[in-house]
Amino acid sequence: MVQKEFKAESRRLLEMMVNSIYSQKEIFLRELISNASDAIDKMYYKALTDDSMTFNADDFYIRVQADKASRTLTVEDTGIGMTEEELEKNLGTIAESGSLAFKKEHDAEDGHDIIGQFGVGFYSAFMAADKVTVLTRSAFSDQAYKWESNGTDGYTMEPAEKEKPGTTITLHIKEDQEEESYSDFLEEQQLRSIIKKYSDFIRYPILMLTETEQQKEDSEETETVVEEVTVNSMVPIWKKDKSELTDDDYKNFYHEKHYGFDNPLKHIHIRVDGTIRYNSILYIPETTPFDFYSKEYEKGLELYSSGVLIMEKSPDLLPDYFSFVKGMVDSEDLSLNISREMLQHDRQLKMIAKNIKTKIRKELETMLKNDRSGYETFFKEFGRQLKFGVYNDFGQHKEELQDLILFYSSKDKELTTLKEYKERMPEEQQYIYYASGDSIDRLEKLPQAELVKDKGFELLYFTEEVDEFAVKMMRDYDGTEFKSVSSGDLDLETEEEKKEQEETAEAYKELFAGMKEQLGSRVKDVRLSSRLKSHPVCLTAEGEVTIEMEKILAQMPE
Ligand code: ADP
Ligand code: MG
Repeated sequence: MVQKEFKAESRRLLEMMVNSIYSQKEIFLRELISNASDAIDKMYYKALTDDSMTFNADDFYIRVQADKASRTLTVEDTGIGMTEEELEKNLGTIAESGSLAFKKEHDAEDGHDIIGQFGVGFYSAFMAADKVTVLTRSAFSDQAYKWESNGTDGYTMEPAEKEKPGTTITLHIKEDQEEESYSDFLEEQQLRSIIKKYSDFIRYPILMLTETEQQKEDSEETETVVEEVTVNSMVPIWKKDKSELTDDDYKNFYHEKHYGFDNPLKHIHIRVDGTIRYNSILYIPETTPFDFYSKEYEKGLELYSSGVLIMEKSPDLLPDYFSFVKGMVDSEDLSLNISREMLQHDRQLKMIAKNIKTKIRKELETMLKNDRSGYETFFKEFGRQLKFGVYNDFGQHKEELQDLILFYSSKDKELTTLKEYKERMPEEQQYIYYASGDSIDRLEKLPQAELVKDKGFELLYFTEEVDEFAVKMMRDYDGTEFKSVSSGDLDLETEEEKKEQEETAEAYKELFAGMKEQLGSRVKDVRLSSRLKSHPVCLTAEGEVTIEMEKILAQMPE
């Protein structure tokens, strides 16, 4: 047997691969199963174009089996297998992808379910194994071959026996180390849960031997029965037609995936088949997760590539202001083997994110229009996040969000949109007035609000800290500026009234000067006010920052 050398740079690449590209060891199983699925897919595509071949679905499966005694884990498939040359080329050269070549060679349209393309996934086996043996026979040859490697010293290859075409990969699982345990990869339950997590929607059955206790016939006693069961669900719900699915199906998926302990308020099922292709199921939860407004909360969607989970929470798919959205995205255009860091710059991912953002916004707009009470339920839970969205990033999301935010108003103390407020404005009203405070009841009694209401103008009640910051960032809504009733100049008087006031102010000049002297540095000025009706005096702020904002700013850590 000839020992062949990995090229020097390949060896380094392999080390880097094994130790840094993948964040979790368990994904090696996902990689091997994906390869097995690709190998079966290739049989399927071959049969599509070659009349002499038939594809009988029952003949194709992936089998995962662990043997504790020999510390081995095997992944077997009945796929296309590899010839001697293919074996050497695909597994002897790191970053050589037979699958990518297959996709290029065949019509891309046909092959787009094939997952592989980077030619590095296979080597992740060395994260869990100190020796890997590949026994493979091509569907187009009678001769099988055995490939073996410990991952560092190159590999060996020799002819071998194999009854049927396909590939069997045997991993010799590493011994447990002090800080690292590998034995989990030999436990049936662990393996099942890894398969469920990453490979549940692989389109071919993944079989595993499972021990179950069964009652013996005509007897009280039980016996252990070993059965082969399919552990993956195969057809993902997001690939099904919307018309086939009920609200309960969506609700079950929400719970199955642990998106939340509550029920979804709304689901959005998206299928896009254009320049970008993806399927997505998104949920707006009914209630805010307990940690939603804390630093611990992580936004993100599950990201799948052709049914294979590649990231549990991809934050790049959601803007911060929609961080409450849960769900998943599956795209066949994404690359499976790239690291998280590279994924952030993936152009496809950016396009999908943009697309999703628009869909969520549209859905909320529709809900606001057609299901007001549903929308208000949503808004009471997550509205604050939308207002933060208006405020953050220097207000650049204003256009997208301004029609989705609601405020309490002096009109019936109900929630209103800015559009509705504006539509109710009398012609002579120049500003959108608001008052900030702790509660609506207190704001109702605010002396500063009297004159505005007296004029027949409506007032927005800002009871959340973010409210005033958000409108300050917005400056105006559809050309109408916001004005706090506690700002110095409300600009409500007629020319005549103004003149009258000036005269009165002049007449009482000395009184005000005396008052100011008494109050000292606690006030900046004492002035005559025209805005008060039943109260003798009120406090106002000068400039952009109102008293309420000053209070909040004073509480903020330096
Ligand atoms: P990728 O899947 O990205 O192409 P891998 O390192 O996972 O990269 O695999 C390299 C190549 O080895 C594949 O492209 C494929 O040609 C071949 N290969 C791997 N596993 C199998 C298998 N089970 N059956 C047939 N070919 C396989
Ligand atoms: Mg692969």
